[in-house]
Amino acid sequence: MMQERKGIGASPGIAIGPVYLHSSTLPDIVPRRVERPDEEVESLTRAETVVRERLEGLQALHGEGSEEAEVIGAHLLLLEDPEFTGEIRSLIQGESLCAEAATVRVTEESAGMLEALEDEYLAARAADVRDVGTQLLRAVLRLPLDTWDNLSAPSVLVASDFFPSETATIPPGMALGLCTEEGSPTSHIAVFARGMGLPAVVGVDLPPLEPGTLLAFDGETGTVYIDPSPEVVDRLRGQQEEQRRSREGAAERAHEPAVTLDGVRIEVAANIGAEEDAVRAVELGAEGVGLFRTEFLFLDRTRPISEEEQYEAYRTVLETFGDQLVVVRTLDVGGDKQVPGIEIGEELNPFLGLRGIRLTLARPEMMQAQLRALLRAGSAGRLAIMAPMVAGRAELMAFRAALEEAERSLVADGLSFSTDYQVGIMIEVPSAALVASRLAPHIDFFSIGTNDLTQYTLAVDRTNREVADLADPFDPGVLRLIAETASAGKAHQSWVGVCGAMAGDPLAVPVLIGLGVTELSVAIPAVPAIKDKVRSLSLEECRRVAARCLEAADAREARELLSGM
Ligand code: PEP
Ligand code: MG
Repeated sequence: MMQERKGIGASPGIAIGPVYLHSSTLPDIVPRRVERPDEEVESLTRAETVVRERLEGLQALHGEGSEEAEVIGAHLLLLEDPEFTGEIRSLIQGESLCAEAATVRVTEESAGMLEALEDEYLAARAADVRDVGTQLLRAVLRLPLDTWDNLSAPSVLVASDFFPSETATIPPGMALGLCTEEGSPTSHIAVFARGMGLPAVVGVDLPPLEPGTLLAFDGETGTVYIDPSPEVVDRLRGQQEEQRRSREGAAERAHEPAVTLDGVRIEVAANIGAEEDAVRAVELGAEGVGLFRTEFLFLDRTRPISEEEQYEAYRTVLETFGDQLVVVRTLDVGGDKQVPGIEIGEELNPFLGLRGIRLTLARPEMMQAQLRALLRAGSAGRLAIMAPMVAGRAELMAFRAALEEAERSLVADGLSFSTDYQVGIMIEVPSAALVASRLAPHIDFFSIGTNDLTQYTLAVDRTNREVADLADPFDPGVLRLIAETASAGKAHQSWVGVCGAMAGDPLAVPVLIGLGVTELSVAIPAVPAIKDKVRSLSLEECRRVAARCLEAADAREARELLSGM
């Protein structure tokens, strides 16, 4: 009998195949006191070497710049972390505890501490700690590190959760899709699956499954079918085939411009988080960068990145894109994003607290280092600098003043820099959208961050799974703010883009273009498909449907109006 379950779509695509049940359970560890702690330390050191060599091998396999390689890089750093492996050593020596028990205890305590902070980013770090801890434990126990020995045919891989090092070692061609009981759309598993182009669904409440049971799911809607009927299999196979064809077509045209049927050019740019992303973005046809999330440069290190290191990173990206515009966003932390070395006090409502431009204005040295690095790198390409979370005119003017200050200090230091750059702000706070016409004379562009704009307009915490369903950017309240921003931009000859996740949703493309948006900045793998979507539309019809969406009663009605386009 077919059963249907609802999970959260984490990576698009249809998966159909036999279930492979994966479990990463380990033997129970009995803590032992040892006579010779030095031997245990030696065993730990040996295990570290085994894990390090394996991780380095995996990193090379995935190639520099891939998201997998980045995760593995973070794991390598953890292996060197005095607060992690150093702590295991101290425990062995201090308490004469055996290496395996010390590894388990420190792993559990460190991961538990991160999880207790109830922050999605830190929860992902906790998963990293558990992953590395488990690999170390396996190595200490001299167990094989590869856990896929029994996977002999292409299957849908099902687990309570997967460690990143496990997904990274799946034998090529063996995974038809990934399905987990835990996890959220922002967890590693989602990032990995999207990077590998594998369908994935997370957070599924599964009944007990027999290995080999037929399982199918849609990684977009999150619907899972256990033992699907022949009709459902046929329908899903049809969809799978259609998706394959349209992906191939879009990939072939990835380097052609995105022009509507009535001849209007829409720029399709990429969102990037590291200099290594730039090459892949160019390969997939991105016409510049619409959002460089520089906070990623500040992660995985114990102190803020220096001006010099930032300069190198920005220069690399600008050079890669040549004469295409690269929009670099100044550091956007606070809220759900924390960065080592940048202390933000305890806040009751971090999303309404010291975040984005507010934080950098409060820490002028940090802001100046970043702006100086950007201006110095500016002559390597076409630079645009953008401030996040601007709520109104005062912050915009303070941002402009900080730019002038950076220019002055560079002159004083006798350093060369570019004065030919664009200045823009993100529209993520409803007040900024509402007064966009007063802000537009002072900027070259607006880039709408629909993720935050939706959260602040609808008062829905974007990281809270309980209310995630309510955070719908198609809500006419959000659409009206986008319309307001687009018309203010147009009136002042400032271009208007969207860099929130909505820009990468094909359903949203007609309404965004119809409201007057001329640039869409999307996740790198989405570039070809979004370009193709633009090519299938005329601006005229987009304007008509956008006007109707603004009058819709709710997000569902707006989605229905767009569904046939
Ligand atoms: C947004 O809020 O839409 C956005 C693009 O910024 P981030 O997701 O980095 O907060
Ligand atoms: Mg944002």
